[in-house]
Amino acid sequence: MASQFTPGHIGVIGAGIVGVSTALYLQRDGHRVTIFDQGGPGEGTSFGNASVIAKNSAEPVAMPGIIWRVPGMLMDPLGPLAIRWQYLPKLMPWLVQFVLASRKWRVEEISKAMHAISKDSITAYRTLTGEIGIDDMIVERGWLSVYGSDHSFAEAQTELDLLKRRGNEFEILKKDEIRQFEPTVGNQFAHAVWHKDYAHTVDNFGLVQRMAQHFLQRGGKHVRERVEDFVIGPNGPTHVVTSAGRHAIDGVVVAAGAWSKPLSAKLGHWVPLDVERGYHVMLPNAGVVPRMPVHMGDHGFVATPLNGGLRFAGTVELGGLEAPPNWKRAEVLLKHGTRVFPTVNTTDRRYWMGFRPSVPDSVPIISGGRHPNAWFAFGHGHLGLTNGAITGRLIADLVAGRTPDIDMAPYRIDRPWN
Ligand SMILES: Cc1cc2nc3c(=O)[nH]c(=O)nc-3n(C[C@H](O)[C@H](O)[C@H](O)COP(=O)(O)OP(=O)(O)OC[C@H]3O[C@@H](n4cnc5c(N)ncnc54)[C@H](O)[C@@H]3O)c2cc1C
Repeated sequence: MASQFTPGHIGVIGAGIVGVSTALYLQRDGHRVTIFDQGGPGEGTSFGNASVIAKNSAEPVAMPGIIWRVPGMLMDPLGPLAIRWQYLPKLMPWLVQFVLASRKWRVEEISKAMHAISKDSITAYRTLTGEIGIDDMIVERGWLSVYGSDHSFAEAQTELDLLKRRGNEFEILKKDEIRQFEPTVGNQFAHAVWHKDYAHTVDNFGLVQRMAQHFLQRGGKHVRERVEDFVIGPNGPTHVVTSAGRHAIDGVVVAAGAWSKPLSAKLGHWVPLDVERGYHVMLPNAGVVPRMPVHMGDHGFVATPLNGGLRFAGTVELGGLEAPPNWKRAEVLLKHGTRVFPTVNTTDRRYWMGFRPSVPDSVPIISGGRHPNAWFAFGHGHLGLTNGAITGRLIADLVAGRTPDIDMAPYRIDRPWN
C-alpha cells in the first residue's frame, strides 16, 4: 500500500472536520486540492458534536462486558442507548463484530491503536490553528466526569484502568471537592474525575469554517456537488463523477463520514461502517458557564461551554441513516442537563441530530487501498473532532510516501474486522 505520489490534483470527498483537515495538510505538501461536498464546510456531523478534543483517549465503545450492560441501558428510558428495532436486521452483522471487538485482548489492542493517534490530536490541530491564527479556538483545561453513585463510579474502573495504562493523566476528586472545583454543578455527585489531557473548542462549527476559509484563501477549491462514482483507469481513479459532471483528478481521498461506505465500495473496498446517531440541545441563554466540559459518567452525557451558549450532547441511537430524528432522545439530554446544572435557563433551546460514522472496533480507517492513488479517512465514531487533524496529517504522510511515526496497520481499510 505504500505509495510515492508526486504533488498533483487531489480530490477530497467531504467537507467535515476530517476532510477539511486532510485538505489543509495535503495543501501544505504542495498538492492542488479540491473538496467535493454538496453542502458547506462542517454542515454534516461535524456541526453539532460536543466539541471535546479527547487527547490520550483510548477507550473503545465496545468495552469488555458491554453485551451484559446493553439490556439494562435499553430498558432505561433515560439511558444512554436506544435502538430502532426495525433497523436491527440490517445492523446485525455490525453488532456481531462490535461484540467480538469487546473481547479483553482485542480491547487492549484497540486501545493502543486509539491512543497512538489521539496522543497527537492537539499537536496536529496546533499546526493548523497556529498558521491560521486561531489558536484561541482550542482551550486546554481538561474535562470533568461526574458520577451519581458509588455503583456507577465502580463501573467506570475498567475504563479508568485502561486510560491509566495508556498514560492518560487524571485526578480523582472526593465528594466535598467537586463543587469547589466546578461550582456550577449540583451537589448530588458522589465522585468525579478531572481528565487533565482533554481540550475543547469554543466553537466546533466555527473551527471547521475558519479552516475551510484558510484552505480557499490558499488556492483550494470547493465544488458543491455530490460525488456519485469514479472513472477508474488502469492506474486507479482518474475522475470524480458528481451529480453535475466529471472532474479530472490525480488522486482521491474519501472523507465523507457516515456516507463513506458506498463510495469506498466503488473503489473496491467493503467496510463495516454504520452509524451511531447522537443528539444535542443548544442553550443560547443558559446563564451557566462551567470552566470545562462536564461529562455525566453514567449517562453518556456531555455539557460543553461554547461561544454560542451551553451545549448538552450525547446519547447513542442505533437506527441507520434514513429514520427521522426522535427528539425524545434530545429531551433525555435536557433532563440530565437540568439535573447537573440546577440553575440552567433552557429558553430558546435548539435541537439537533447527527450521524457518528462508526466501525465496530472504534478504530478509524486511515489508509491507502487497492488503487495506488486512492485513500480513505473515515469511521471516526465518537472521536472525529478529536482525531480530525491527526488523520489529515497521517493521510498526507501516506500520500507523500513518508513513513508515519506510528504503525498504520490497525487503521487499514482491509484489516481483519474480527
Ligand atoms: C452528539 C455527538 C457528539 C459528539 N461529540 C464529539 C466530541 O466531543 N469529540 C469528538 O471528537 N467527536 C465527537 N463526535 C463525533 C464527531 O462529530 C464525528 O466523528 C465527526 O464529526 C465526523 O467528521 P467527518 O468529517 O468524518 O464527517 P462529517 O462531519 O459528517 O462530514 C462528512 C461530509 O461528507 C459529505 N458527503 C457525504 N456524502 C457525500 C458525497 N457523496 N459527495 C460529497 N460529499 C459527501 C457530507 O455532506 C458531510 O459534509 C460527536 C458526534 C455526535 C453525533
